[in-house]
Amino acid sequence: MDNCLFCKIVRGEIPSRKVYEDDEVFAFHDINPLRPVHLLVVPKHHITSLATIVEADVPVLGRILAVANKLAIAQGSPDGFRVIINTGRVGNQEVQHLHAHIVGGPDPVGPMLKKIN
Ligand code: 5GP
Ligand code: ZN
Repeated sequence: MDNCLFCKIVRGEIPSRKVYEDDEVFAFHDINPLRPVHLLVVPKHHITSLATIVEADVPVLGRILAVANKLAIAQGSPDGFRVIINTGRVGNQEVQHLHAHIVGGPDPVGPMLKKIN
């Protein structure tokens, strides 16, 4: 995808603070970290969102989750972390290339969501 921000980061056309790369996934620090540890893990090939996955994407989804724990530990979140995958309009997804947020740090990240009514 020529104009996709995270495809450009994967290709090295836009700089990022990379923490991990293998044949399927690429992980880097979020530019606007919300917790002391805030990583993004993305598939190297363009997938728009969890709402658009196909059967062939299943292995890379597993890989994203499989690397989360070791990246969290290596980056300063040894006692757990949270994985967030914002999806589509209702999920408030801003970048249209599937990404898992790995958030954590030394302290608990806080409650999941606040009830709105
Ligand atoms: P979303 O709201 O789509 O789940 O999250 C997109 C995330 O991408 C945000 O947390 C935002 O800070 C991050 N982000 C946006 N642009 C860039 C960028 O150019 N570089 C990096 N490293 N992160 C970015
Ligand atoms: Zn992309």
